[in-house]
Amino acid sequence: MNMIIATHNAHKLEESGRILGPLGITGQTAELAEAEEAGTTFRENAYIKAKSACDETGLPCVADDSGLSIDYLNGEPGVYSARYAEPGKRKATVLEKLKGVPEEKRGAHFTSAICCVFPNGDVLEAEGYCYGRIAEECRGESGFGYDPIFICTEEGCAGKTFGEATAKEKDAVSHRGKSLRIFAEKLENYLKDKEG
Ligand code: IMP
Repeated sequence: MNMIIATHNAHKLEESGRILGPLGITGQTAELAEAEEAGTTFRENAYIKAKSACDETGLPCVADDSGLSIDYLNGEPGVYSARYAEPGKRKATVLEKLKGVPEEKRGAHFTSAICCVFPNGDVLEAEGYCYGRIAEECRGESGFGYDPIFICTEEGCAGKTFGEATAKEKDAVSHRGKSLRIFAEKLENYLKDKEG
């Protein structure tokens, strides 16, 4: 199935394509207006983006809203991950806020909420999480966003930051890998129900 992936983030687009392709879902982008992420949860914001894109294109649209929640900062930056501090200063801001905080208090997780809106109003949703802790300094050049300061603690990637992990290692355990695989399964069932 071919869908519109509603994002302005080239990295998310690349990851989504990489994860969904082998599952039989091909994504394409479209020139879309920037939807205002006015929600207070990842789930709400994913719906806002997918619905706005679907209204604009008249096609099934899938959107991801994601972010990093840090235990020591009471869940910040959370849904504000893309707007936390000035561009280019986000990782440094987090590292500064956690300066001197011991390893056992540096727990964090990524969340990815996926929402797919169909022109008939049907909605499919999925969520995925990935657990780890915040590093003391940036490590690795791969990925994007907070990847170099997130030390994954999940099997297959444990001890590496997402900046040090290969794309394959990240996709196997990442919040987006998990949410998109759940979404792909829900989509398959949804399409089967429609046919039947
Ligand atoms: P939004 O979903 O467009 O609000 O943006 C999510 C923001 O969270 C991104 O701009 C990144 O800063 C951060 N983020 C989400 N997923 C990841 C990831 O896989 N790695 C690193 N940062 C991420």
